[in-house]
Amino acid sequence: MRSLGVLEEVAAEGFAFHRRFFRNSQGGLRAEVPSLLGGGDVPPNIALSRPALHRILNGAADRAGAKIVMGCSIAELNDGPHGVDVTFTDGRADRYDLVVGFDGLRSPLRRRLFGDAYEPTFTGYSVWRLTCPRLPTIDCITLYQGEHSKAGLCPLGDDEMYLLHVTAEPGNPRYDPASFPDMLIERMREYGAEPAVVRDAITADTTIVYSPLEEVLVPAPWHRGRVVIAGDAAHASTPHLTQGAAMALEDAVVLAESVDRAVPLEQALQEFAARRMPRARFVHERSRASLLNEMTGERAREPERFADATRRRMAEVDRFLDQPA
Ligand SMILES: Cc1cc2nc3c(=O)[nH]c(=O)nc-3n(C[C@H](O)[C@H](O)[C@H](O)COP(=O)(O)OP(=O)(O)OC[C@H]3O[C@@H](n4cnc5c(N)ncnc54)[C@H](O)[C@@H]3O)c2cc1C
Repeated sequence: MRSLGVLEEVAAEGFAFHRRFFRNSQGGLRAEVPSLLGGGDVPPNIALSRPALHRILNGAADRAGAKIVMGCSIAELNDGPHGVDVTFTDGRADRYDLVVGFDGLRSPLRRRLFGDAYEPTFTGYSVWRLTCPRLPTIDCITLYQGEHSKAGLCPLGDDEMYLLHVTAEPGNPRYDPASFPDMLIERMREYGAEPAVVRDAITADTTIVYSPLEEVLVPAPWHRGRVVIAGDAAHASTPHLTQGAAMALEDAVVLAESVDRAVPLEQALQEFAARRMPRARFVHERSRASLLNEMTGERAREPERFADATRRRMAEVDRFLDQPA
């Protein structure tokens, strides 16, 4: 964030916190776990909404002189000896030294480069989310372990927070959005404390986002010729370490550093993915392990070991992530 010149704005807009609470489904404390990331004037976590992050990043890109075109895609792409010829869906055409695709989990660019070798896979679990007014007791991310589901509340600012609820949804069914409110209320039946307050305020008009949890991990390198993918297009994980946005931002910074060096582009792109791959794999594996651990009910059954094991596990994760990206 600092190297992108947006740390101050993010800190001013977001909600900083230094710890995480793990609770049972009735709100009883199972573990308070300090966040060991960051240091100095950089808080370990700054939560903020996607629209706020987009606004801040768009502002910075604008100030840096980037030309931003919305609502347009690649129609044709030809990687030739002198550059990449791109024709856009709005009819424009141009030649580029490098094409970078941060085009998400279902990346069309990934398909262009690698065919169907790396398609997202469904984990068997989904997450239900909604945004609501922040309860005063929610001043850091707080997770509530149920028998076979997990709820969580995270501040997004002084006035807002969001609810997440992870459930098993075998077979990846598609539901009618009109039934989301009833389905979420039913799935959160066992919860007390703050999740119950949020659940009991759900009405037919509540906007709920339902997302199947899918993942993909493309082995390095992430380029072919002068075209490279990054962010979720190259490595999308379950959201359990809340690192997806940070991973994409770090990719952008590391890619810029790599191509800035006076080395041939092929070497720069090789080095870029080689530098990022261990981190991408770590986040991928640890996020998935957390998901499975929570959903198999193990965590609910072993209260006496939980606090120590969680502190140890999170400290390991924080130490790894605190290394340079
Ligand atoms: C349920 C859930 C919860 C999450 N929670 C967190 C969290 O708490 N913290 C966190 O850091 N991360 C979280 N993530 C992950 C985070 O959202 C992603 O890792 C992050 O958005 C990746 O950024 P990206 O730019 O690579 O891809 P995206 O944000 O997906 O952006 C891809 C962009 O490409 C565009 N696009 C796609 N196809 C085309 C095309 N053909 N032409 C032009 N444009 C195209 C899309 O419109 C989109 O704007 C969560 C994800 C999920 C699913």
